[in-house]
Amino acid sequence: MDKAANVLGTHIQKILVTSNTREVKTDSVSAAINAQLEKGTRAFIVVANMMTTMFGSVDIPDYYIQALEEKNLTYFIHVDGAYGGFYYPFSETGHAMNFRNPKISSVTLDAHKMAQAPYGTGIFIVRKNLIQYANTKEASYVEGEYFTLIGSRSGANAVAVWMILFKYGPFGYMEKIFVLQKRTSWMCNQLDKLKIPYFRNRAANIITLKQEGVSAHIAHKYGLVPDNHQHPAWYKIVVMDYVTVDKQNILVQDLKEHQKE
Ligand SMILES: *Cc1c(COP(=O)(O)O)cnc(C)c1O
Repeated sequence: MDKAANVLGTHIQKILVTSNTREVKTDSVSAAINAQLEKGTRAFIVVANMMTTMFGSVDIPDYYIQALEEKNLTYFIHVDGAYGGFYYPFSETGHAMNFRNPKISSVTLDAHKMAQAPYGTGIFIVRKNLIQYANTKEASYVEGEYFTLIGSRSGANAVAVWMILFKYGPFGYMEKIFVLQKRTSWMCNQLDKLKIPYFRNRAANIITLKQEGVSAHIAHKYGLVPDNHQHPAWYKIVVMDYVTVDKQNILVQDLKEHQKE
């Protein structure tokens, strides 16, 4: 988002979340709006997250919508489903992060995360009345019209995504997410028994452990990803197809051994 703001020449303003529950601090939303109004900003593009990369936490778009509408401001809500777009819609049905919500303008989702497609398979979906703003008619040597910033790109990537989705089918994909949900819950139960503190969104396959519950040795041995490579405060486990309960159990046993030392 910092990069996008840089390219577009717009201001960027971040909001705060609570450390343990990863929930948006609503007072920081109004503070963010006010800070931008003071800079002369007249319209807002809000990026709401459908599963953050480190925590799997999910925004509640209403917090932004209410704050912006109270002030009668022009805004667009974009959903960043880079990570969650191929997960969350299958694990949580009653959410307001899709086009059923009339306030959502656009959504991105990456097939190169949970759908395990080759890199460079991000997907952008926008409402019909907005796609015209992304159109460039000037590239007249191209047959049809042009809607991307990066220009020409590999069609093989699109074929790869199509193949993956076609192979699963909607029910196959539903079963995949069902299994990952079960495995993630299994791991959380083990952590509860060991009294190791962690954060998990109940509809996510990411478990983010507080640093104090994990030795640096174990984190390194299992390749747990830190939030910050210099001073880790959290380490995450991402439960993918290959992260079976058997494999998770090896880590659980190691954590248990470490507690005895
Ligand atoms: C991976 C990720 C991005 C970056 O997307 P790329 O298409 O891989 O560059 C943005 N937001 C979230 C939440 C992500 O997980």
